[in-house]
Amino acid sequence: MAKQLLGKEVAAALNEKIKANVEGLKAKGINPTLGIVRVGERPDDLSYERGATKRCDTLGVAVEKFLLPVDVTQEELMATIDKVNEDENIHGVLIFRPLPKHLDEAAVIKALKPEKDVDGITDGSMVGVFAGTKQGFPPCTPQACMEILDHYGIDCTGKKAVVVGRSLVVGKPAAMMLIKKNATVTICHTRTKDMPSVTREADIVIVAAGRAGVVNESYVAPGQVVIDVGINVNDEGKLCGDVKYDTVEPIVDAITPVPGGVGAVTTSVLVGHVVEAAMRTVK
Ligand code: NAD
Repeated sequence: MAKQLLGKEVAAALNEKIKANVEGLKAKGINPTLGIVRVGERPDDLSYERGATKRCDTLGVAVEKFLLPVDVTQEELMATIDKVNEDENIHGVLIFRPLPKHLDEAAVIKALKPEKDVDGITDGSMVGVFAGTKQGFPPCTPQACMEILDHYGIDCTGKKAVVVGRSLVVGKPAAMMLIKKNATVTICHTRTKDMPSVTREADIVIVAAGRAGVVNESYVAPGQVVIDVGINVNDEGKLCGDVKYDTVEPIVDAITPVPGGVGAVTTSVLVGHVVEAAMRTVK
């Protein structure tokens, strides 16, 4: 039976570190604060916002919400971004996306200061991930994958890692972060030929394809660590990952469940970024 890599254990350890840092900041008179910019009321956004707000509350991080109507103009939205950029009491900003179609999302992202980009969406943050420098912040989901590997003491040095998926928000940054951890990395995507022969050779497989059950028992081998980023809803209306858990788990060494894996770590990573952003403002 594979070892289950549990997101809640990783989040609990991260939360302890975050709490200590929050106390340190408060002792210096700094109240770490997350600014949330939300346009409209999409159920997905509301649900993530509830989770993030709750996590902030328990860790002593303040939340300031900027809620805009679904028909907000580009000018009004840009004015809000200016406001959060300039407000010294807001250390990190989360902007819910995708924005409604009438808005220029690229312009909004471009306007956000990378030092407040705790969700890792700006070009500045991407440069940080690709160059391996402390500029902006990495996207929370691939960082959550790295936190899981770190927490469970899975050393990547010299290991073969395969990332399934090449999105800018998960696949590509995950690959860069694995390289920083000295893994030898291959990225698979929809045009990859004979993917099972590639994934079977890996020591570590990170799956972020957004397709339920795309990685099944023929893609894996004994001894592997499998991190499943996918969040899908199956025919029975239940949450499931991109990995066919029931048939993969008996073969591999370690695996993240869905739910309860990567998704359970992302809000802690986000709040950790807010606190780090606040710490970076201390000279
Ligand atoms: P995306 O659709 O932007 O990208 C998917 C990538 O997977 C693409 O590069 C595509 O080429 C590749 N792909 C798709 N089908 C494939 C296949 N059959 N074989 C090989 N490659 C394939 O998705 P994303 O934003 O990167 O998210 C990926 C998954 O992660 C989704 O299920 C999403 O819901 C989930 N997600 C989870 C969290 C979390 O906190 N756990 C956060 C963000 C996204």
